[in-house]
Amino acid sequence: MRTKAIVIRKMPVNEYDQIVTLYSEDFGTMRAMARGICRPTSVQSMHLELLNAVEFEVIHGKALPIISSAMMSRQHLGVKNSLCKLAAVQFFTEVLDKIAFENEKDVHLWEFLNMMLTDFDSAPEGELLPLFRKHQAGFLKVLGYAPQTERCVVCSADPLAGPEKMVALSTELGGVMCPECFLAGGRGIMFDKADLGLLNGKGTVSASKHSTLDTFFEYTVGRKISSLGFLYQVLE
Ligand SMILES: [Zn+2]
Repeated sequence: MRTKAIVIRKMPVNEYDQIVTLYSEDFGTMRAMARGICRPTSVQSMHLELLNAVEFEVIHGKALPIISSAMMSRQHLGVKNSLCKLAAVQFFTEVLDKIAFENEKDVHLWEFLNMMLTDFDSAPEGELLPLFRKHQAGFLKVLGYAPQTERCVVCSADPLAGPEKMVALSTELGGVMCPECFLAGGRGIMFDKADLGLLNGKGTVSASKHSTLDTFFEYTVGRKISSLGFLYQVLE
């Protein structure tokens, strides 16, 4: 079996081996063993670098499939040679690694991942934040997590009518709530109204680096996303 994939994570095991997590075109997230990849003579190591687009083949292994051949097709050097681009891209691979179900093919997610990498690869460093927000919003859509923002998810009232700067967003119900429904016992996270536009691609990126989009992602994933801290540090 031969399939295309992006290398999203590598973890050392034993002395010379690594477990490689790939997002593949045909099987979604999958893990495979790269035997001997840490030996200085390994020919696979350069092909299986993090964020490479590869074509690879596996054979049956005891616990995990074993990579029998791998051929890199794109290295994304523009990303690897820039710390901020690397940090931005790692946000997506980290989220993907945390939430993706293994062995589930998803054409849209596969296309998103490739497009996102290509965009960051060629983007000027000064324009990273708007690009990052654009792809965060696109990522939510592709993952099926994009919240409804037009009407209150409970009563359909206009959730943005009040003078408040923030609006409550329920991750359980998948959308924003008006103040009344929120006060009536809804649970949610507070989302900056100014950031709502980011979700449908109409928003402008605020000057402040942090966005409630980040909070929403962390809430959805269910834990802290460490690459976000890294990204804001390198963007300082
Ligand atoms: Zn309501």
